[in-house]
Amino acid sequence: MNEGFSGGCACGAVRYECTDPPRLVAHCHCEDCRRSSGTGHTTHVVVDEAAFHLTGSVTTFRRVGETGLSVERSFCPTCGSHIVARYAVRAGSVHIRASSLDDPNALSPNLIIYASRALDWTSMDPALPAFPEMAVDSARALLEQ
Ligand SMILES: [Zn+2]
Ligand SMILES: [Zn+2]
Repeated sequence: MNEGFSGGCACGAVRYECTDPPRLVAHCHCEDCRRSSGTGHTTHVVVDEAAFHLTGSVTTFRRVGETGLSVERSFCPTCGSHIVARYAVRAGSVHIRASSLDDPNALSPNLIIYASRALDWTSMDPALPAFPEMAVDSARALLEQ
């Protein structure tokens, strides 16, 4: 995906436009992603906050993540579709749920994080680099080689 993209929730009350292509597309197998996803992982489409423009209102769930910094997940209060997450540890970026894109097939996942926590019945693409824990910084370095 080399261009901007759009997406929204299942009922249409929340919509967004992103003016940049994704910086990174990561499958995450952490417990929080699993519990909020409906299956064993979430796929995050990471973009800069400045490129992300949301319309409609979302409900936000906040908690303290493993890093000790805040984690926020925002979803449509009407239909419950997850839209974005924001991690204080990566301030300035927005993690859009791949499931909310209008054209999720246009994505090319780059890597897997928290692979050590994947469920026994989850299959992971062996062609993708898989990090046992978060390791997003080393993942970025890998992508920029
Ligand atoms: Zn909705
Ligand atoms: Zn996760």
